[in-house]
Amino acid sequence: MSKPVILTGLRANNDLTLGNYFGGLLPIIDMATNKSDEYQINLFVPDLHSFTTPIDHGELQKQIWNNLRLFVAAGLPLDNEDVHLYRQSYVPAHSELTWVLDCFTGFGEMRRMTQFKEKFASLSKEVTVKGAHIGDDGQVQPTTDLTQYLWERTTLGLFNYPVLMASDILLYNATFVPVGDDQSQHLEFTRDIAQRMNSKFGELFTIPKAVIEQHEFFGKDQGLRIKDLADPTKKMSKSDESGKGVIFLSEDPEFAAGKIMRATTDDMANIKYDPQVQPGISNLIEILALTTGKTKDEVANEWQGKSSYGDFKQAVADAVRAFLTDFQAKLAQVSDEAIQAKLSTSETHANEVANETLLRAQKAVGLR
Ligand code: ATP
Ligand code: MG
Repeated sequence: MSKPVILTGLRANNDLTLGNYFGGLLPIIDMATNKSDEYQINLFVPDLHSFTTPIDHGELQKQIWNNLRLFVAAGLPLDNEDVHLYRQSYVPAHSELTWVLDCFTGFGEMRRMTQFKEKFASLSKEVTVKGAHIGDDGQVQPTTDLTQYLWERTTLGLFNYPVLMASDILLYNATFVPVGDDQSQHLEFTRDIAQRMNSKFGELFTIPKAVIEQHEFFGKDQGLRIKDLADPTKKMSKSDESGKGVIFLSEDPEFAAGKIMRATTDDMANIKYDPQVQPGISNLIEILALTTGKTKDEVANEWQGKSSYGDFKQAVADAVRAFLTDFQAKLAQVSDEAIQAKLSTSETHANEVANETLLRAQKAVGLR
């Protein structure tokens, strides 16, 4: 029996953030470092997903390599045979299986996907301003104007990327896929389409575990959400347009420290972990804990009873500066040759596994 597969990908649409590092990258690297005797770990760069929303294509290749280097600097062990590192577009089966699955996926099913609806809703708001209206059911009525507007602004790629994501998972028979809230619906879709295909055509795909089991498996880091420094009610996001509240892994440590000093807090003069009442201060406690390897309780206890936000921010800024300086020193040591060698081995392996799954699907639908 082969080992259960744990799989994750981080979109290469921008430099990664402190949030991506602690919430997305470290958990999988933890698994790669400590669990590879029991599990196979697949970490991939979803390069095909990188332009479901507009990007500067002149930067994409650089961004893909930047991400690969960040993975290694964060501790991804390249010398472990059970750890696979690959680029999605180097395994054509991802695109090929997506087409097959597309033909068994409902238009309505995709339209209900939260990520798409959110994008749709933000566009709809703009359209409402321009004179379109929201119906009784809360949905924007598809007037000609709206339809035309959406056609211009959203792409089929954004619409059906959950199907590509299903292929990413199903091709490798992956069981465990860490998902944040924003992706859990897509994991449920992956299970649905896999079950649908299996009941129609016989056992084609391994069904990944349900969201709740994923959360149990990945444990503590699942809920982690570092917040935006400028607006601590929303999460820190690498695609944030202003970047004012976002700490990027490759940015100047001094500049990043400045963002911490300017972070939005409150006027309660109380350093306490209470995300509901004091989101800004709580976020800084979280960041200080993560960058110094302490628990939130330890940090909160150390600062309990102190009231100077200036001193506290200074401590967080120092910790972030030190963290980034250290991380960037590791980044500078990363060998592109070592990455290239790993990619070559992993991409050969990934093609073998993915093509086996693809062939089962092709035979099932009568293509072979
Ligand atoms: P985008 O704005 O392009 O969606 P993102 O910052 O939300 O970027 P994703 O590519 O969607 O990043 O997610 C990559 C990984 O980082 C996922 O595992 C996700 O759960 C994790 N992640 C994203 N943002 C945070 C955050 N603020 N705190 C902790 N983990 C996060
Ligand atoms: Mg995201």
